[in-house]
Amino acid sequence: MSWSGIIAAYRPLLDVAAIEPITLLEGNTPLIPLPRLARALNLEGVDLRAKYEGLNPTGSFKDRGMTAAITQAVADGAKSVICASTGNTAASAAAYAARAELKCVVLIPQGKVAAGKLAGAIAYGAQVIAIQGSFDDGLRMVREISATGKIMLVNSINPYRIEGQKTSAFEICDALGSAPDWLCLPVGNAGNITAYWRGFKQYHAIGKVTNRPRMLGVQAAGSAPLVLGHAVDKPETIATAIRIGRPARGEEALMAKDESNGHILAVTDNEILEAWKMLAEIEGVWVEPASAAGVAGLRKAAQQHPADFTGKRIVCILTGHGLKDPDAVIQRAPAPVEIPAELHALEDAIGVSG
Ligand SMILES: *Cc1c(COP(=O)(O)O)cnc(C)c1O
Repeated sequence: MSWSGIIAAYRPLLDVAAIEPITLLEGNTPLIPLPRLARALNLEGVDLRAKYEGLNPTGSFKDRGMTAAITQAVADGAKSVICASTGNTAASAAAYAARAELKCVVLIPQGKVAAGKLAGAIAYGAQVIAIQGSFDDGLRMVREISATGKIMLVNSINPYRIEGQKTSAFEICDALGSAPDWLCLPVGNAGNITAYWRGFKQYHAIGKVTNRPRMLGVQAAGSAPLVLGHAVDKPETIATAIRIGRPARGEEALMAKDESNGHILAVTDNEILEAWKMLAEIEGVWVEPASAAGVAGLRKAAQQHPADFTGKRIVCILTGHGLKDPDAVIQRAPAPVEIPAELHALEDAIGVSG
């Protein structure tokens, strides 16, 4: 059967208006085995896989939530939508709004949005507004303006975003025939961890699976309000997608952790970059830095509590594509070697001369 997007695939399990979905055929992303990474991380007997959400139509998992939020917005008669964004929500909202013929306004923190995300939002025709403040300031502003009823909010406070994002948990269970033992993912505004946990609980409740995973939520050390137990006023991290100091769904993230007997922990930017490099160089899977946080957190947790992970089935959510943030690579690497356009120079450069 051909794929028609997440709403068509899971309609009876989703609370979304029963109209023709606004879709880019998002979802159905691959669950890629990572045997070399499991070995490199000394994860003994672990079946490690990555749910590669960067392969969604605009390059991140936000498309799962956006097909639902924009479909509902159309059903509710909205004419325009707005979001605050570290970049991926903006690109996704802009794309789906274009298909629905809605006006789209996105607020981004000035100078803190990766090139591929900003370019996307502009390309899809959104009105892009850079604010002199953080994501959290932007979220406060869009909450205020949408409360007037003049424009619909499509951040993950919007319940339909969570409905759509649950479907990745369904897909994982369908692919594995059960829920994994652990689900590891980055946590920013905490919509996604909320959605996964709801999805796994729902699949379990209707008897599709007999187990539920333990949730491992991972924050960046410079923006780790859920680990610290208080808001962070000036969040900092290279992982711009999770550079958030006041997560809108923080309470729900903590509940997901508690109910699943999981953890929420923090990793440093260096730990994120190490995991990011390993994913690309060992497994050929290039993601944006934030997306590697789940893997970095798994590495750390498995060092601290090896018995909890040995022999387990573990899925890491890779939330966004590497092409979203090319500068993260370019600014860290030496420029390519330059040579004259001659064979002997090439032989010298790659060490096969003489
Ligand atoms: C949005 C996003 C996150 C964080 O998800 P939340 O639902 O805000 O916790 C992580 N990684 C990427 C690539 C994202 O776009």
